[in-house]
Amino acid sequence: MKNLSIANHILSDVHYQASPHFNTRPTNTEINLLVIHCISLPAGRYGLPYIDDLFLGCLDCQADPSFADLKDVKVSSHILIRRDGEIIQYVPFNERAWHAGVSSFAGVDGCNDYSIGIELEGTDDSEFESAQYQSLIEVTRAIMQSYPKITLDKIVGHSDIAPGRKTDPGTGFDWSYYKSEL
Ligand SMILES: [Zn+2]
Repeated sequence: MKNLSIANHILSDVHYQASPHFNTRPTNTEINLLVIHCISLPAGRYGLPYIDDLFLGCLDCQADPSFADLKDVKVSSHILIRRDGEIIQYVPFNERAWHAGVSSFAGVDGCNDYSIGIELEGTDDSEFESAQYQSLIEVTRAIMQSYPKITLDKIVGHSDIAPGRKTDPGTGFDWSYYKSEL
């Protein structure tokens, strides 16, 4: 397994694509939360360019009928992990990516301000690939080393910080395996 490291808030040796969808975190914000998500575009179809396009702000909303809802949607995550375990970073960790939306953790709203977001290519009701877990575990270890306020209890799903609104990463995500490897 590769040993990932972080320099200047960017993972070494991963594919980096600069998203325009980010801004500065509030002054003196400590990064102390890691949020796990899943996404696929169209839903349940993998290996296509549309997630990149969405995060990079160049999605053709006519490419699939389901994309009509995504017109003018500006979102991003720090990291995407594809089905084969490929890792792509879009936003430096010290900057505020736009992945959580309306959210709250431990009584503090606006989780984008103080969290790092990781998207797994997948759906809310199916399982993930072992290559994805391996990459996720490596990325998480590197993040926990660089941002030590992110402890095991500060790693949550999107569904935990936006209950009733979001269900990802969903029932197919194996939290106990993931956390046991950290
Ligand atoms: Zn999500």
